[in-house]
Amino acid sequence: MSQNPPNFRPDIAQPRLRDDSRAGQPTIGMVSLGCPKALVDSERILTRLRAEGYGIAPDYDGADAVIVNTCGFLDSAKAESLEAIGEALQENGRVIVTGCLGAEKDYITGAHPKVLAVTGPHQYEQVLDAVHDAVPPSPDPFVDLLPPAGVKLTPRHYSYLKISEGCNHSCKFCIIPDMRGRLQSRPMKAVLREAEKLAEAGVRELLVISQDTSAFGTDWKDRDHKTPVQPLAEALGELGLWVRLHYVYPYPHVAGLVPLMAEGKILPYLDIPFQHAHPDTLRRMARPAAAEKTLDRIAEWRAICPEIALRSTFIVGYPGETQEEFQTLLDWLDEAQLDRVGCFKYENVDGARSNSLPDHVPEEVKEERWAQFMAKAQAISEAKLAAKVGRRLQVIVDEVDDDGATCRTMADAPEIDGNLFVDKGFEGLKPGDIREVIVDEASEYDLWGRLV
Ligand code: SF4
Repeated sequence: MSQNPPNFRPDIAQPRLRDDSRAGQPTIGMVSLGCPKALVDSERILTRLRAEGYGIAPDYDGADAVIVNTCGFLDSAKAESLEAIGEALQENGRVIVTGCLGAEKDYITGAHPKVLAVTGPHQYEQVLDAVHDAVPPSPDPFVDLLPPAGVKLTPRHYSYLKISEGCNHSCKFCIIPDMRGRLQSRPMKAVLREAEKLAEAGVRELLVISQDTSAFGTDWKDRDHKTPVQPLAEALGELGLWVRLHYVYPYPHVAGLVPLMAEGKILPYLDIPFQHAHPDTLRRMARPAAAEKTLDRIAEWRAICPEIALRSTFIVGYPGETQEEFQTLLDWLDEAQLDRVGCFKYENVDGARSNSLPDHVPEEVKEERWAQFMAKAQAISEAKLAAKVGRRLQVIVDEVDDDGATCRTMADAPEIDGNLFVDKGFEGLKPGDIREVIVDEASEYDLWGRLV
């Protein structure tokens, strides 16, 4: 997320776990805060624990110890993490802390001296060691079989696929490179193997995530391709799944991915964190690709794939943002006509270089700009969705209950974008089904339709 303050925190991080522990089995609970990448880490830790014979408790009471996977991106996220640790200590008493905020051990132990251990982001082995110390394993090889795709906190039909860790940029408002280090791409084979395993386990949609997806593989010393994200996307496109790319930067080589979208190999969807449109604001942010002509790029992508849905996030009220710079952003949005937009009011983050920039914007101005920006984004979204009424679209089913089916079109990522609801004839549907609908109705962010 890096670029995207974790806007979907913590609702996305609700563990969906069954209490299937056996009598006498050592059992661990997990509280997972933060962005989808942190959620993937939680899944990995739980997968390993399950493989070692631990049970996973869905609540504090049934757990012998609780792992809190923290987020430290914004000061508000840090406060939330401390609160979650406090609650786990109170409810359970045996708490192991990991995740981004784990990089600041003293900050955690200062507030909560009774935690059993603190480990940083991606220190899987250390988390496991801490769990072994707190609750020794007691494996039973006959019953502790790992489910084919590991333990999943996300619903079975979609899954996040983390392709790299860290970031080589140094945007001034971001402390991710300090917390997570420089770019480390996973080997292509490992990513593809994981994707294949997920497909075999019934996953229908892969959400590719990292700090900078377009930079995937550029840290490999010997690489066959200048920008390995291209062969990666091509290979993922062969799996017959919905493949959705998140956190892509608008570098020129992104144009090479768009034909795959036009051919239906990967979803016609790009999540690109533009953050701002005024060159001076972007320079003060020290954003990668600040000088790129983004409107030209967008026009180029739409020419190749007219169906492409563009999602982005922005920061308003960045230090030094003048009214003129903000107006440029509004005008840019008018022209860019993005499909989905998130917007954050700038907030200082402990350790970020932007804190010391001059001319911080007063809170009420930030609030006003945010409201203006969101009103414009909403109007664009409303018009774009209204234009879909009467069209035939493919949707994936997320949930079915007595009232209907909640689905998503190719233009909607789970948890952060809109939905398409089917109120009639939905009884035979189940999560993960991919079906065609005709769109009957639209609101600002959601659609309603009927099955074809
Ligand atoms: S430094 Fe910039 S590009 Fe890197 S993770 Fe932070 S916001 Fe994203």
